[in-house]
Amino acid sequence: MALLKIRWFAAGAVVAAVALSLLNEGTLRWPAGRLELPQAAAAAPGATAALTLPVATTQPAAASKQPLRIICFGAHPDDCELRAAGSGAKWAAQGHQVKFVSLTNGDIGHWQMAGGPLAQRRTAEVQRSAQILGIEAEVLDIHDGELLPTLENRKTVTRLIRQWKADVVMCHRPNDYHPDHRNVGLLVQDAAYMVTVPFFCPDIPRLERNPVFLYYEDRFQKPNPFSADVVVGIDDVIEKKMAMVEALESQFYEGGCCSGLTELPQGEAAVARKQTVYDSFRRRFASTADRFRPQLKAYYGEQRGGSMSYAEAFEICEYGRQPTPDEIRRLFPFFGE
Ligand SMILES: [Zn+2]
Repeated sequence: MALLKIRWFAAGAVVAAVALSLLNEGTLRWPAGRLELPQAAAAAPGATAALTLPVATTQPAAASKQPLRIICFGAHPDDCELRAAGSGAKWAAQGHQVKFVSLTNGDIGHWQMAGGPLAQRRTAEVQRSAQILGIEAEVLDIHDGELLPTLENRKTVTRLIRQWKADVVMCHRPNDYHPDHRNVGLLVQDAAYMVTVPFFCPDIPRLERNPVFLYYEDRFQKPNPFSADVVVGIDDVIEKKMAMVEALESQFYEGGCCSGLTELPQGEAAVARKQTVYDSFRRRFASTADRFRPQLKAYYGEQRGGSMSYAEAFEICEYGRQPTPDEIRRLFPFFGE
C-alpha cells in the first residue's frame, strides 16, 4: 500500500489549477454551490413526528446497560462513513457496537486505478477510518457497479444483520441516483422482514425482535423526498469525521472515480487541493444541520439545537420495527447529553 501511494504521488507532474470538481460519487449531490438552496424536506414545522417530541430529560439507554448494536450498509467503501460516521463515533464512545458494511469492494472508484489493488486500498482506508471512529468495518468482495438485488445477496444481508444481532440497521434509500446505492436499499428492505423468519437462512438464528431500519439523508425528490425523522448533532465528533475524510484519500483528496483530474497535484497545488476538499466537506456536513434546523431544535431544545453546526439525519423505514418517540431516544442516546 505504501509503495502504491508513493508511486501515485511520484507519478504526476504539477497540476496547474486545483479546480474542485469533486465529482466522485460521494460528493456529486452536494457540490458547494448548491449548499444554500432551500430544502423542501425541512419545510414545515410539524412535518415529521420528530418535530413534536419534547426534549428528553432522561437517558433511557444508560439505564438499560445493554450495549446497542448498530449495523450500517453502504454500496461503496465511503458511503456509510459519509452519512453516519458522526453518529457511529458517538455510539462507539458510549460503548455501543457499530459496524459499517460496504456491499461492494469499490474496485472502479478511481480515475487512475482499478481492480484488485484499488479494492485493497479502499478496504484499508475504511479500516483506518473504523479505527478512528471506534467501530468495525467490513467490505464484501462484490464488484463496484455490479451490485444486484439477488436472492444470494438478500441472504448475505439477512445473515449479516442477524449475526450482528442488530437493534438498528441503516442503508441508502432505494430511489438514490447510483444503481449500487438503490440496490443496497432494496436488499436491506428485502431483509427487513426476513431477518425474523426462522426458516429463511436457518443456519443463522432469526432475530426475535425486528430491528429499527433507517435511511441515510439524500436530496432526491421523487417519488418522495427524504424525511428527517431523527437528526443527530455531531459537533463533538466532527474532527473524527474530518479525520475519516482524510483517511479515505482515494475518494476525497484524490477525487474518486470522476474527479476530473488527470494527474495528482504536487507541492503547493496539493496543499491547496487538500484545503479545498476539506472545506467542501465541512460545508457539506454543516449543510445537514442547517437543512434540518427545526428537527435539531425539537430534539435538543431551542438553544442547543439552534447553535449546532454539524448534524446527520435519518429517515425511519416503514419496514421493520416502528419505534415510539421514547424508543428513538433510547436507540439514539444523544439528545440529553
Ligand atoms: Zn457510493
